[in-house]
Amino acid sequence: MPSRTDADETADTAFLAELRSRIPADRVLTGGPEYTRAVALFNAAVDVRPSVVVRCASTTDVQAAIRASCNHGVPLSVRGGGHDFWGRAFRPGGLVLDLTAMRGVQVDVDHRYATVGGGALSSDVVSAAERAGLTAVTGTAGSVGMVGLTLGGGYGPLLGQFGLAADNLLSAEVVLADGSRVNTDAEHHPDLFWALRGGGNFGVVTSARIRLHPVPTVVSGTILYPIDESAGILADLGGILQDSPDELTVDVGFLPGPDGKPTVYVAPTWSGNLEVGNARNGPVRTLARLGTPVLAEIGPVARSTTLAATDAMFPPGRMGAIRTRTVQSVTGSVATVLDRAAREFTSPFSAIVWHQFHGAATRPPLGSTAFGRREPHLMVELISMWENGETKDHTGGGDGRYSHLHWLEETHAALEPFSLPGGYVNFLGPETPDQVANSYGPNTKRLLAVKSAVDPDSVFSATPLPTSTADA
Ligand SMILES: Cc1cc2nc3c(=O)[nH]c(=O)nc-3n(C[C@H](O)[C@H](O)[C@H](O)COP(=O)(O)OP(=O)(O)OC[C@H]3O[C@@H](n4cnc5c(N)ncnc54)[C@H](O)[C@@H]3O)c2cc1C
Repeated sequence: MPSRTDADETADTAFLAELRSRIPADRVLTGGPEYTRAVALFNAAVDVRPSVVVRCASTTDVQAAIRASCNHGVPLSVRGGGHDFWGRAFRPGGLVLDLTAMRGVQVDVDHRYATVGGGALSSDVVSAAERAGLTAVTGTAGSVGMVGLTLGGGYGPLLGQFGLAADNLLSAEVVLADGSRVNTDAEHHPDLFWALRGGGNFGVVTSARIRLHPVPTVVSGTILYPIDESAGILADLGGILQDSPDELTVDVGFLPGPDGKPTVYVAPTWSGNLEVGNARNGPVRTLARLGTPVLAEIGPVARSTTLAATDAMFPPGRMGAIRTRTVQSVTGSVATVLDRAAREFTSPFSAIVWHQFHGAATRPPLGSTAFGRREPHLMVELISMWENGETKDHTGGGDGRYSHLHWLEETHAALEPFSLPGGYVNFLGPETPDQVANSYGPNTKRLLAVKSAVDPDSVFSATPLPTSTADA
């Protein structure tokens, strides 16, 4: 490693001096307990360390920090909820625009929208909306950043009825790579607004206006079946998912059960009439009669409670890695691959979950937002998580042959022949360039054109973009 020179020190000093001349010094963190807290992410396996964290409190702070980083050639990144598996909220030795102090949420009940700070968590938005009898379209977890989720698309349990999180973005205030501030919506800077909905990082979203819906309570819950029943249950679910009404979105997968043995996991969310959703022979409770469940907890529940339940399943501070595949159904060979992978889980914290993409999410024309896939599909998450402190090459589970990462890579590779090209950008990383290249399909050309117009030097480089239209 090259040793640091006097010139490096002088540059650092000048950079910090500029930051501290524009932003209160107690919000410019370079060490100490506050810095240590600020660099803790969801995934403890991330070992990227930034040199400076700026706790931004306003759009003006964001602009000042971007300008200082440009003036001194320091790479920058943006931190929202800190849930990216790769730790793309940070860059090595870089400056972090930490938005965790910008979590305000204002609800306009009459017009059914929320104005949310760039660092608001999904749970912040849902809790505020719920107090007004409304809800927001989020993913399954409350601790995920609302904007981070939305920029990549945002699969979630209300997707069948209200589309992706990105489909519910009404407008955004964005600070661009040159430090300028723009307000974008369908009429103003429409290309930028198009790109923000699924296209990732084009600037810092300091505030966003999000559509709300009058569904504070859903019928939801968890059903677990023994893995030995998986063939029949997955076959039945294949048909049910294909025909499900917009109000019913079902996440399915495999989780280690209460006794450590893998189970089939079925997590329905009904966002329609509560009586219909909760009826004994209704579409939700029927899902608990596909076999002999070891657990079936279903009922009307506040959206905030369902988000908190997922947060409890995936607490921050463990180590992990993720891969994703997009498939048309989990039947036949795909079901066989995933069933085998579940039986070989190397950790009690690992999981396989597929999100159903259907209904309202499939209706916007493919070119209407940057999001790269609009036909019905299942987005499969392969999640390997292990206790902080174990090495990633730990050998455990199954017959002892697999380390956590081998399990992940082998399952990901085994799914390839049955998968559609591309993948979900919020879960794609540098290890899967072929999937990145195909993640935007016919939207690639426009997306790259917007990128060169608003961020020609790729100051915002976190979300992997295809390198050329020839890739797609
Ligand atoms: C436990 C868990 C559950 C998840 N569940 C779902 C799910 O149900 N559905 C789904 O679609 N995804 C899900 N995800 C994936 C999640 O949507 C992405 O990882 C998302 O990018 C996280 O956003 P964040 O703000 O929390 O993370 P961060 O790591 O802070 O940021 C992620 C990326 O977004 C950028 N970013 C964040 N905020 C801003 C902003 N205001 N302006 C500009 N750029 C910003 C960051 O620079 C970074 O590139 C889940 C992830 C985890 C770990």
